[in-house]
This record gives sequence, C-alpha cells and structure tokens, in this order.
Amino acid sequence: MIISRVMTTAFGNAKKQLDRVVPLLKKEYSDVKRFEKAVELLKTPQRLLKKKITIKLDNGKKRSFPAVRSQFNDARGPFKGGVRFHPNVSLDEVKALSFWMTVKCAVVGIPYGGSKGGIPVDPSTLSQDELKRLSFAYADFVAPDIGPWQDVPAPDVNTDSQIMAWMLEAYEKKVGHQAPATFTGKPIELGGSQGRTEATGLGGVTVLKEYIKNNPTLLKLRGAKMAVQGIGNVGYWFAHFAQKEGFKVVAISDSRGGIYGPKGLDVDKVLREKEKTGQIKANITNEKLLELAVDVLVPAALENAITKENANKIKAKCVFEMANGPTTPEADEILAKRKIDVIPDVLANAGGVTVSYFEWVQNLSGYYWEKEKVLAEERKIMIKAFKDIQETVKEKKVTYRQAAFILAVKRIIDAMMLRGRV
Ligand code: NAD
Repeated sequence: MIISRVMTTAFGNAKKQLDRVVPLLKKEYSDVKRFEKAVELLKTPQRLLKKKITIKLDNGKKRSFPAVRSQFNDARGPFKGGVRFHPNVSLDEVKALSFWMTVKCAVVGIPYGGSKGGIPVDPSTLSQDELKRLSFAYADFVAPDIGPWQDVPAPDVNTDSQIMAWMLEAYEKKVGHQAPATFTGKPIELGGSQGRTEATGLGGVTVLKEYIKNNPTLLKLRGAKMAVQGIGNVGYWFAHFAQKEGFKVVAISDSRGGIYGPKGLDVDKVLREKEKTGQIKANITNEKLLELAVDVLVPAALENAITKENANKIKAKCVFEMANGPTTPEADEILAKRKIDVIPDVLANAGGVTVSYFEWVQNLSGYYWEKEKVLAEERKIMIKAFKDIQETVKEKKVTYRQAAFILAVKRIIDAMMLRGRV
C-alpha cells in the first residue's frame, strides 16, 4: 500500500504545519504571551467524543465499532466536518482532520470552526441494511453534541448523501423535530444543495485556473498533463472539470492501482468502467502514478501519499492537494527546496465546505437557490481566498501553505482573543 501511516502521525504533521507559521505570525501581536497561549490552545481539540457502538449484523450476530468525533475549535462558528468510514480511522486521524477543517473554514472566511469523525470500518464488507444500522448508531452517538449551532457533520471518505439522509432521520427522531441544517451533503429531496456533489472538484479547478493565471510561465492551461490519485467523489469531479477546461488527464487511480494513458484518458469512460466492473483496468501502481512526468500532480485519496521517501522522485511542476493531508511536513520541505509549488488542501479542496455552508444557509432560511447561484457564489469565495493567499505568498516570500496558515490562524486566534478565551 503506498499510503504509509506508520512513520508519522497525521496530528503530529498538523501541529508541525502550525509551528512553521508561528514565528511569522508572532510579529503581528503586541502581547506575545497571549499569542503563545492561543497557539497552545490551538494544539488540542476542545472536545473528543468516543464510544463503542454496536449493531446487529444480518446473520443475527452483533459487531462493535469504536466510533470517534473530534470537535477541534469553534471560535469562528459551529464545528463543521465530515464523517469517514474507513479501516484507518483513529483518534489521531480525526484530530488532524478536524484541525485542518478549522483552518480551512478560516481560509475561505466562512463562519465555522472545525470537526471530524468516523468509524474504523470497511463499508464494502457490510450489506446496505448493516450500513444503514451503522449510520443510525453513529448519529445516535453524536446526537447530544451536534446541531445547526453546535456541530454540522457532512460526507467524507466512503460516506455519501444516503448516509447523511439516514443520520438526519436518526437525529431528528432523537430531538423530536425537523433539523435539516444539522447535516450537509444531504440528498436534494431532504434539503441538500444544488451543486454540492461536484463542489469540491469544481472549486479545486477554479483555484487551479487562478494559480495558472498567476504563474503563466510555469504552466499553460491547454494540454497541461495531470495525474490524479483517487477516483472518488473529489478525484473524479476534479478530473472531469479539469478535462473540460483543456487539461490532459493522463492517469487516475483507485486504491488498487491506476490507469495510465500518455495521450490522455477519457475520465468519464474510466468511471463508467469502474461502475460496471467494480474496478479500473489498472496498468500502473499508485507509487508510479505519483512519480509520473506530469505538469500537475493531484493527490485526491488519503493522507501521507507524498512523504520524504518519494518527494525527491516527484517530477510534477505543481502538487495540487485535493485530499486532506496528502503531503507530510518533511516532503513539503523537500518540494519547497526543489521549487515545486504545493497548493495546500486547506485552499484546494475548500469548495466542498463552502457549498456545505450554502446548504446550511438555505436550510436555516428555508429558501433554496438555483444551481447557477450556488456555483457563482462558490467561485467568488474560492477566487477571493486564492487572491488573498497569492498576495501573502508574494509579500512575505512564503509557500502557499504557509500563506494559507498565516491568514487562517490569525483569523482563528483573533476570534479566540475577542471571545476572551485567552
Ligand atoms: P471517496 O470515498 O469518494 O473516494 C476515495 C477514493 O480514493 C476512492 O476512489 C478510493 O479507491 C481511493 N483510494 C483509497 N485509498 C487509496 C490509495 N491508497 N491509493 C489510491 N487511491 C486510494 O472520498 P472523497 O470524498 O473523494 O475524499 C477523498 C479525499 O478528499 C479525502 O482526503 C477527503 O477527506 C477529502 N475531501 C473530501 C471532500 C468531499 O466533499 N467529499 C471535501 C474536502 C476534502
């Protein structure tokens, strides 16, 4: 398996990313002690929820799972973050992912904090009925601590709008009234937003186009070659829209391997094939995909795909992080030294939570937007976030990740200070 999780912990990586911008941010605060106290607070989740949840299997036996949720920081608004069903889900992983959610919401300036949760399970080993019972049990477990003004879950790896629908039903049964704004990424029929499914991929392509406009000598849009690791919700829609914009997607993969076609693939055809046969016709490993001589490399699967072991083998001109946490801090440093730009996850994939925010706004107001409005508003937010970060990159001579963290961490710490938490 290419994605190594043993050498570094995801939360350790997240804290290293924070530490790297502390010296740059310190100058902006006259009360250094207060600033340092805020940074220390930002290294621990406000609340960790853990519970063994048990469901009945179809064969009548029972099976238990250690369910978790990390509510990291809510200084800027209610906690917000997905629910992941994957064998590698752990407390360490959700702590990291909830920290990144906190930073991400601040990067795009939407009024949320950050959270994340999940269950260590491979959902392909469960029947639909078992998956439904598991979703109900998870919602029951978090119900006392979530809600439109508390914590708003959404889909993440291996969870989708159907799972959100089951969780909404379980939650509403428990609280005794309708509460659609408690979950985002719902089916349209239950108050989901137009455009949410493709929002993360589309937002990423919007940012990529802005990046290219700002770096015209490095990359040309038309015909630029791209390799995408992961053909899930995020990877597929990103590759789909990138292809529409004139990029040449030469490789794409799932957990079992990748398909490489130097002349360019038809992404929709690859997806149809996967839907029909359950897999893609792999002719390349995920390790090799990362090392292809492309213009843009897009990790869109899981954490720790690019590590110090393979960072020197990356041949792309730019790494565009559509997954959360795909580059370790050590790899980040190597890529920076090699002058390979990394467009960080907290900006690149923020289109998803941005449209989740619109879904929440629509649920709270009871008025639903046309798709055109959703996508136009998403575009505005993504372009503004990119511009702010690009200016900071130029002004402070820092990487895109450092620039995103400088802007976001300042917004979070200022909110903590205004509330008198430090
Ligand atoms: P998904 O479950 O829809 O898809 C994940 C894909 O990654 C699948 O195609 C799977 O086969 C592939 N994969 C798994 N392990 C892999 C491996 N070792 N090598 C290569 N491919 C592998 O999940 P998703 O929603 O597309 O999420 C992907 C990433 O994007 C995650 O990091 C997630 O946190 C992040 N993200 C998702 C959203 C969203 O709106 N869904 C928003 C922001 C960030």
